[in-house]
Amino acid sequence: MTVKQNYIAGEWVNGADAAENINPSDTRDVVGLYARASLAQAAGAVAAAQAAQPVWAALTSQQRADALDAVGQEIQARKAELADLLAREEGKALSDALGEVQRAAHIFKFFAGEALRLGGELLPSTRPGMTVGITREPVGVVSIITPWNFPIAIPAWKIAPALAYGNAVVFKPAEAVPASAWALVEIMSRVGLPAGTLNLVMGRGRDIGNALLEDPRVSAVTFTGSEGTGRKVAAACVGRQGAMAKFQLEMGGKNPLVVLDDADLDVAVECAINGAFYSTGQRCTASSRLVVTAGIHDRFVAAMTERMKRLQVGDARKTGTVIGPVVDATQLAQDLSYIAIGQSEGATLAFGGEALPEVDGQPGFYLRPALFTGTTNQMRINREEVFGPVASVIQVKDAEEALAVANDTDYGLSAGVCTTSLKQAAHFSRHLQAGMVMVNAPTAGVDPHVPFGGRKASSHGPREQGRYAAEFYTTVKTTYTNP
Ligand code: NAD
Repeated sequence: MTVKQNYIAGEWVNGADAAENINPSDTRDVVGLYARASLAQAAGAVAAAQAAQPVWAALTSQQRADALDAVGQEIQARKAELADLLAREEGKALSDALGEVQRAAHIFKFFAGEALRLGGELLPSTRPGMTVGITREPVGVVSIITPWNFPIAIPAWKIAPALAYGNAVVFKPAEAVPASAWALVEIMSRVGLPAGTLNLVMGRGRDIGNALLEDPRVSAVTFTGSEGTGRKVAAACVGRQGAMAKFQLEMGGKNPLVVLDDADLDVAVECAINGAFYSTGQRCTASSRLVVTAGIHDRFVAAMTERMKRLQVGDARKTGTVIGPVVDATQLAQDLSYIAIGQSEGATLAFGGEALPEVDGQPGFYLRPALFTGTTNQMRINREEVFGPVASVIQVKDAEEALAVANDTDYGLSAGVCTTSLKQAAHFSRHLQAGMVMVNAPTAGVDPHVPFGGRKASSHGPREQGRYAAEFYTTVKTTYTNP
């Protein structure tokens, strides 16, 4: 098996060593061997990006737009193949994987347009005769560090705006999912980017992460991943020698879906099933807390457990599979430990929660989606991010208590409410403390052209995606002219 290499300064290069990428739906299947960059190579990638950035920024906006558009077109044309690869390495059910790949294509096309639209402002000065211009410039070299749960969409929503606005990139994907990242960079290596504009360094964060954070040639760091790593990234960005790096962190969630007495039961159940369990619950926006008012609680729980019986767990790439495996052994162990914690805290495991070592004779990291009932918002399962197909029902008295419980969390990424009352929909939209609010829709599943991000411990820094991405990937200059 040939090793898929890192991409540095426009060249494909071997790493210090290589790691196997294992299919979580069938652990006998090795998806590929992927090079792990050395520290020196990571530093070389930063140097290459620094050299390339002014060259890339000096191209016309139309040239940058054309390059990004070409990436979007190729992803679109190869979406079935790329989705198959994504499902194979990450374990996301093929339909979800296809949606993710499609989204990556849309993101590149969106930012191709944005490259042409970056504007500024011209204002009269408060001083006579003077004018004030406000323009945006690239920040420089951007380190991009991504998690495993969206192997192509998250890289896309960071790389596309970074390049659209004239920055150069050093990209480090999560070690569990290098294949989709490699495929994306391979496509991008053929669209005419100046050598060094986009660099791929694969490997473990703890081995090469610091080279991408502490190097003063890196002007900005965009990170998506766990809160713990996010804090380390932030500390490195402010603690380094010389100028601090600008940084943006997208981290965990403990997202509430509120179901009020007047909700349409079928809508509420579908929102909860999709939000809590699709993509095997491995979404930062997953509805892990189902906050349900007393009048609908028993009907909701009964309908949920019935519906969960029909969630087919299996090989991510097989027709009929709704819930693929958990990504790897470490994450499966974490999920199971939280299921045990929930039980020891006195929660009732109303459905699922058992590991399935094999499905259809295939050894994999399978877990039947778990629903806890009889939980309180103080239990660890309702305070800490599990990041698996595990959801809890929290019964509350009324809408007022539901809102208080929904907001009683350290996190604030996404929040939802199911109701048929316009008044309640407006009230919850206004008062839910989250970056994104969903009314009669799953807490997960968002559009590519509007801001994405959260509050509290979920996020730090400007929003991602849509035209709001310019806040992070550009720096503002104010120019005073006295003609
Ligand atoms: P993680 O924090 O373990 O890893 C994320 C990335 O950071 C990986 O590429 C990893 O190699 C790298 N990394 C690890 N240590 C590092 C270090 N010391 N320096 C630099 N980089 C380092 O997260 P994960 O397990 O890959 O992803 C799951 C987490 O991501 C969950 O908490 C989830 O909620 C979160 N997430 C958040 C969003 C969002 O937008 N808010 C989206 C998706 C996932």
